[in-house]
Amino acid sequence: MYDYLIAGCGFAGAVMAERLASASNQKVLIIDKRNHIGGNAFDHYNEHGILVHKYGPHIFHTNSKKVFEYLSRFTEWRPYEHHVLASVDGQLVPIPINLNTINTLYGLDLSSAAFEEYLASRAEKISPVRTSEDVVLSTIGKELYEKFFKGYTIKQWDLDPSELDASVTARVPTRTNKDNRYFTDTYQAMPLHGYTKMFEQMLSHPNIHIMLNTDFEDIRNTIPFRNIIYTGPIDAFFNYRFGKLPYRSIDFRFQTLDQEAYQSCGTVNFPVSNLYTRITEFKKLTGQTHAKTTIVFEYPVADGDPYYPIPRQENQAIYNQYRALAEELPNVFFTGRLGTYKYYNMDQVVAQSLALHKKITEEKISLECVQQ
Ligand code: FAD
Ligand code: UDP
Repeated sequence: MYDYLIAGCGFAGAVMAERLASASNQKVLIIDKRNHIGGNAFDHYNEHGILVHKYGPHIFHTNSKKVFEYLSRFTEWRPYEHHVLASVDGQLVPIPINLNTINTLYGLDLSSAAFEEYLASRAEKISPVRTSEDVVLSTIGKELYEKFFKGYTIKQWDLDPSELDASVTARVPTRTNKDNRYFTDTYQAMPLHGYTKMFEQMLSHPNIHIMLNTDFEDIRNTIPFRNIIYTGPIDAFFNYRFGKLPYRSIDFRFQTLDQEAYQSCGTVNFPVSNLYTRITEFKKLTGQTHAKTTIVFEYPVADGDPYYPIPRQENQAIYNQYRALAEELPNVFFTGRLGTYKYYNMDQVVAQSLALHKKITEEKISLECVQQ
């Protein structure tokens, strides 16, 4: 009999499996309905020999020393700082908006102090800041909001920014210096041999048994186990008792071109034009040298794999109902982007699973003390 059945083999499930197997000496069965490990961070070499991310570009960044050191047990790293340009008014300018963005866009030569004044004169007084529209209007004003945020957000979510929590656009904060990097985290790097290789290392333990092409629904009543870790969509676990939690999906369209390079940086965003939101060139992220190059276009869509929880109050209210049910179940634990309906980056999911492992272990120890 297995001590743990883990549904989902992405970051959330793999961290739990690794910790339970090696730190807690538990026997783990980890399953995924897909034919591969790695969840949405899965990468592979395509038919041209180029390393690509099947579910869109994944760039690792974190401020957590603990998370970085934990993952460093399973991979070496390639230092990489992501740069994104936005196609606005016929020019390519850095996003997040910074001093270079504004000077290039308007042909100005402002100092940081002058840019701060510029923003202050345009920022709208909004209190409290509740929505994704509020957060942008209250920092940069309407003109820049419409050029950089409004169209992109409507494309990505099929919602107006005023219908989304502030946390969504707050992910891309404006700067008044000349820092062109997309992220400012302390640790920014890509797994040297790719994400899938890193997952292979995490899961290679005699206590871990992996079963792919296996849906939790098909085995939940047939394989004996003591505990469940569930990292799939929480509404599916409860058979949609309180209705479906909305997710946004993406249609990823890959193209391999007979040229060494396609664009000057990792990603180009299209806030206004086109039906896709962004184009990413994988070789920029991975550092691979190859005579050809592969790019991916992201077309947001309503139906398909659940990639993005949609942060807004009414969805949180549905999730809270599921969470309340989950808390009543002994020996079933939920973690991950789908399991806890949170718009989390990879490092946040790792931290969440490390914390869950700690909690489970501590609870087990205190239970054993009571029983002795
Ligand atoms: P997932 O990776 O989704 O894994 C869940 C797994 O559960 C899946 O493999 C699924 O097949 C499986 N599953 C679901 N239901 C069942 C079932 N019934 N039975 C069996 N298996 C099941 N984060 C970053 O830090 N940096 C980035 O640059 C970045 N870019 C991203 C770009 C895109 C387009 C997307 C969609 C996400 C991006 N992320 C990024 C977020 C990152 O993908 C997530 O934080 C992370 O993959 C979440 O891990 P997880 O294990 O919670 O979920
Ligand atoms: N966003 C935008 N314009 C941009 C980039 C981002 O309006 O050029 C908004 C949009 O709502 C997006 C959110 O900010 O969904 C978060 O962007 P991020 O790049 O973090 O999205 P992810 O990489 O998670 O898809």
